[in-house]
Amino acid sequence: MGTLNCDNCGGFSKCTNACYMHLGKALVDFITGIDVVETRIGEFSSTKMGGKLDLIVSGHQLYNDGESGWILTDISTTIDSSDKFKSAYEMNVFQIATKYLERTEKTPEEKDEILNKIRQINKNKLFIVPFKPNTMCIIEYNDGHTVVNRVDAQIHSIRWSNNKENHKFDITVLFEVENMPSKIQKHNISTYLDKFSLAQIDMQTRTPKINTKIISIDNNGIIKPIIFKQDNIQIAVDGSYVYQINSQGISIIGVWGTGDKLYMNNSIKLKAIEKLKDNETFIKCHRKYIAPYMLYEPNVIEV
Ligand SMILES: [Zn+2]
Repeated sequence: MGTLNCDNCGGFSKCTNACYMHLGKALVDFITGIDVVETRIGEFSSTKMGGKLDLIVSGHQLYNDGESGWILTDISTTIDSSDKFKSAYEMNVFQIATKYLERTEKTPEEKDEILNKIRQINKNKLFIVPFKPNTMCIIEYNDGHTVVNRVDAQIHSIRWSNNKENHKFDITVLFEVENMPSKIQKHNISTYLDKFSLAQIDMQTRTPKINTKIISIDNNGIIKPIIFKQDNIQIAVDGSYVYQINSQGISIIGVWGTGDKLYMNNSIKLKAIEKLKDNETFIKCHRKYIAPYMLYEPNVIEV
């Protein structure tokens, strides 16, 4: 599948293989594009000033004044710090990024910054922040008595808390609402577009051709690469490229270019591509947070 060796890769204009160079480009685009917050996850603390270290920072909260809070729990709390990304061509994302960066014009400092960001994300020292405090949203309101759809709300804070079962983090988005009995509402980040949406993209979500299921965000704060599956052919989309996967392998058939425009090989006619085009603007609004294809579990949509 695909081509591993692409030492003469001349970029998208010369090579349309899903080679490690293109994977590296998609990965570096993603890593440099996303906003993150520094955490103190894994640091030890004490219940008493100067006392025995009996607590660990196991969670984080980012507030609407830009300040952060730390969630402390018992020192025995297990925290998963396994890689957030998948390997490809027998290389992990760190190795793929390194290989790609060797061939770019970036300065050593820029390269270090990118590699460090990958390392820190994997170690939970940086959390990805796809939604920012103070952003206007439309949410489902539920105070235990009343459920109201489509209530205006503003993001109050984002909370990462350690999940006792899988030891990973759950992301809760907290909202402030006005003129309702309960001022604070909470939704897990994975319910985005089901329980809450950004006011800015709300009009789009109510357009008949838009399929909101294509955007699936997980508790890493990452949007899964999208696959439109039509029988034995798959069309995959991430924040950098569009890929076609069939019995011959994987090839790149589109690229997000200047001006946020999607340039596609127009000779391929498929229902899966029509679906992609119908949702192009909607995907574009989210593309910064879409993980690179092959390096992250995809969200498969049957067409
Ligand atoms: Zn190549």
